[in-house]
Amino acid sequence: MENYSLLKDLLINHESFLLTTHVNPDADAIGSQLALFEILNRLGKNVRAINHSATPYNLSFLDSGNIIEKFDENTHVKLFDEIDCIIFLDLNQANRVVKMENGIRNFTGMKICIDHHQNPESFTNYFFGGTEYSATGEVIFDFIEQTGIVEIDYRLAELLYSAIMTDTGSFRFEKTSSKIHKIIAQLLETGINPTDIYDKIYDQFEFSRIKLLGKALETIKLDDTKQIAFMEITKEDMKQSGATEADIDGFVNYCLSIKNIKIGILFYELKDGVKISFRSKGKIPVNKLAAEFNGGGHINASGARLFNKAIGEIKDEIILKAQQYLESEVKNAF
Ligand code: 5GP
Ligand code: MN
Repeated sequence: MENYSLLKDLLINHESFLLTTHVNPDADAIGSQLALFEILNRLGKNVRAINHSATPYNLSFLDSGNIIEKFDENTHVKLFDEIDCIIFLDLNQANRVVKMENGIRNFTGMKICIDHHQNPESFTNYFFGGTEYSATGEVIFDFIEQTGIVEIDYRLAELLYSAIMTDTGSFRFEKTSSKIHKIIAQLLETGINPTDIYDKIYDQFEFSRIKLLGKALETIKLDDTKQIAFMEITKEDMKQSGATEADIDGFVNYCLSIKNIKIGILFYELKDGVKISFRSKGKIPVNKLAAEFNGGGHINASGARLFNKAIGEIKDEIILKAQQYLESEVKNAF
């Protein structure tokens, strides 16, 4: 069991905190960050929540008070001198904070990581969580439960519910256990509305997202093994549809919704390179596949960014590597 009383002491013994999360934050990232913000606020601490990326518009209801700031090298020039503790939520590699990486690497105060991804980089003084957790929000829930540090009210419940609901794929991924449902039952006791939360996160998109999805679905191809499906989105597609990067969240799952497909890949053209999203079924470790390209993530969901490359330059190599992972699953099975 995690040493949550140590985490409680660490929170109590520091005064000014910076909470941050990964580039392109999802609901687990934002939900956990704001939940911890709420806890520290109630403890009377100075807290700031600052991220590399802006909060995606479908998650802005979680931050109706506009707590989260977007990092800016000019405005936040003194930031790292003004705080004594940084807490990283839902990430375990320093490069996931992109523009803030330099600042946090040079920071000499207390650094704490709270996360549930594979292969943590050791860049903090303390780590809480682990891959047994479905979501960082679940770690925060356990921390609150086991220490009684605050009461879980409507606000905290909404944040933690959003975190866990989304990271379990609406309660269908492998880590959806009876424990998760018990946590959810407890969160629902506060009066939060699951229909309403789902609707805000998944059913209030801009029309531009659906137009972009149409374009992306048109590009889906299968590899020779017919077990890998891949899709592409170019800068031109983005321009034509008027969608934003946050809009592509979830597209890659369509690759996995095809019969017999075990690996889904999305190639997304960046300003200065390519972002790749990997998804898999069963025991195919796409986090290891992503790690071969300097990325990371979970066994069944991972990503990587390759800079100064075009999709056409890397696609074949990535599919070839992905095919080796298909074979490795067959070998492991016997
Ligand atoms: P997505 O494909 O939805 O952007 O990311 C899926 C998962 O892969 C994320 O939850 C995150 O854990 C991981 N991931 C995505 N991009 C990167 C990356 O550039 N570096 C690392 N280390 N992990 C990534
Ligand atoms: Mn997460």
